[in-house]
Amino acid sequence: MPARMHNWLEIELKQIKEKGLYRELKTAESSPASSVVINGKEYLMAASNNYLGLAGDRRLIRAAIIAHEKFGIGSSGSRLTTGNTILHDQLEQRIASFKNKEAAMLFSSGYLANIGVISSLAGEEDCILSDELNHASIIDGCRLSKAKTIVYKHVDMEDLEKKLKEAQGYRYRFIVTDGVFSMDGNIAPLPDIVKLGKQYDAYVIVDDAHATGVLGENGRGTSEFLNVDVDVTIGTLSKAVGTEGGFVVGSQKLIDYLRNKARSFIFQTGMSPGIAAASKKAIDIIEEEPDRREHLHRLERKLREKLVNSGFYVLGEQTPIIPVIIGEADKAVQFAQKLLEAGIYAPAIRPPTVPEGMSRIRLTLMASHTEEEISYIHQSIERIGKELKMMKG
Ligand code: PMP
Repeated sequence: MPARMHNWLEIELKQIKEKGLYRELKTAESSPASSVVINGKEYLMAASNNYLGLAGDRRLIRAAIIAHEKFGIGSSGSRLTTGNTILHDQLEQRIASFKNKEAAMLFSSGYLANIGVISSLAGEEDCILSDELNHASIIDGCRLSKAKTIVYKHVDMEDLEKKLKEAQGYRYRFIVTDGVFSMDGNIAPLPDIVKLGKQYDAYVIVDDAHATGVLGENGRGTSEFLNVDVDVTIGTLSKAVGTEGGFVVGSQKLIDYLRNKARSFIFQTGMSPGIAAASKKAIDIIEEEPDRREHLHRLERKLREKLVNSGFYVLGEQTPIIPVIIGEADKAVQFAQKLLEAGIYAPAIRPPTVPEGMSRIRLTLMASHTEEEISYIHQSIERIGKELKMMKG
């Protein structure tokens, strides 16, 4: 790389470091489970998206090996050319039946699903109403679409209604929201959103990345949990399903349209056959083993209650994402460091990901955690909170 370019890259990197926002990788030396080995030391994992503990499940691994032996490692082409196998078709059918929808379409990631779906549906003459805490991939999808994007205040239905009224002059209107918000762990008020969508002629698109496999009696997601139907649901396989890839579900017509329009579907190589087979196995397990979900929610309720009783400000509700508000960014970093010293891996989340003064430790729980591990996380957080003079006593 020319030295000329190094100069300005160095300046940019220095500025990022000065703001305390430099990001570095942490490298795991073990498979995803309740504990993780980093630099030879074992930590209790309290920050993974592996909500149901399926990422290291032997049954998924076996399904992947069998598929790889028959179909190879890479799919070697886009789905529309040479990269489609019976495993991809079967997984799409399985996701559609799991989500109780007519059809599904796979992407290589949830990120690609969001940008592909949103930019295919909304165009220059349209308006997207987007919750201010939506995930980055939704924001990027809105930008790619070239539609007018109006951001409404987080889960504020009065603000959404006001902005829907302002948007009546556009060709089509879309309301797009996360089902579960990744940094706050709260659930979108979908019944109200759907009602407003009907009232103001807007389609509702939900990114159910953090709810798939986690919320609802059968783990079908936010719509099942809140007993409501939406026009388009996007999701990922990289969290509770324990594999990787993204998907969209809806009517057969919607999927036929997206297969012909979504550039991040058309121009990407199909997912690896092993991942497709493992994902299908994971969805079977999600349906067949509701006790995983029940255990997860028991742990989540218990930890929330304990932390609140200890005097912490905890965000979210009924999800395994438990953000503990610390306040200033440097204090949150200190807190995360002390957690590491206690053998717990849960990073600090700082601005710009969250607002100034709202830096936090974002805990996420897994069905593979035990009651004892949850008690240890609570005791450690309480002790560190006292050490950092965050609470009385
Ligand atoms: N949406 C949300 C709400 C997410 O949290 C994420 C992942 N962090 C994604 C989409 C992207 O999914 P993937 O990791 O499969 O690309």
